[in-house]
Amino acid sequence: MRILVTNDDGVYAEGIRVLAQHLRTLGEVFVVAPERPRSAAGHSITLHKPLRLHRVHLLDGTIAYATNGTPTDCVTLGAHAVMEHRVDLVVSGINAGPNLGWDLTYSGTVAAAIEGAVHGVNAFAISLAAEEVLPLARSESDAPAEPPTLHYETAGQAAVQIASMLMEHPLPPHTFLNVNVPNLPWHEVRGFQATALGKRQYADRIETRVDPAGRPYYWLSGSLVEDRDQPGTDVYAVAHGYVSITPIHLDFTAYNLLAPLHEWVAQLNELARR
Ligand code: MN
Repeated sequence: MRILVTNDDGVYAEGIRVLAQHLRTLGEVFVVAPERPRSAAGHSITLHKPLRLHRVHLLDGTIAYATNGTPTDCVTLGAHAVMEHRVDLVVSGINAGPNLGWDLTYSGTVAAAIEGAVHGVNAFAISLAAEEVLPLARSESDAPAEPPTLHYETAGQAAVQIASMLMEHPLPPHTFLNVNVPNLPWHEVRGFQATALGKRQYADRIETRVDPAGRPYYWLSGSLVEDRDQPGTDVYAVAHGYVSITPIHLDFTAYNLLAPLHEWVAQLNELARR
């Protein structure tokens, strides 16, 4: 099996190194990742400047390709320029931090898996759901944040099991999996759960401050509001110690709105004919 590994935290992130190490037990691994962190890049692509690939070595000696492109570019570049279009699986991660609920659309990690699906290849995104790494607002009274322990090994093991599952059960066209792993040692994980996207939002998203010249500036931060009480969702599964696996379709159409929309459009057409 030929596996394309990418991420949005950058080629030198610990998560992608651990992911590549684990997936190597299943086949040939090619690492193509952004040369710098590109978290929250979404599904953006680079159209207005040349894309470059540099061969680099990771800390464990892994040969990787660093690019000036986005996570989405990495999949196209990797498939075309590195793997000669022979890609069996795209795995994106291990992201430092969760990608749950509506955060999917911001995520560069998830976008790389989307691009895998666009290329017609089995793909999944995998994120370590450690809240501590998110840029959330902390109150003045909070103790200074200590660097969190990040259990990338747990996510690496989950990735191997999910990749094996996909070898046996390939995904239908235009779909991929979004995986979130609780930040726990492997023996504390309670298992895997198939989930739907949950509700997870940021309150007071923007914080206004004043610079030394008296001009306002703004930070996107806010605090997290999530519904952890809704069984069957990704938010619930991770909060309860399960690896969450959500199937995602590239088709965003709200099918339940099509019928009423037909009627509204008929009214529009009637008005237009007057
Ligand atoms: Mn990231």
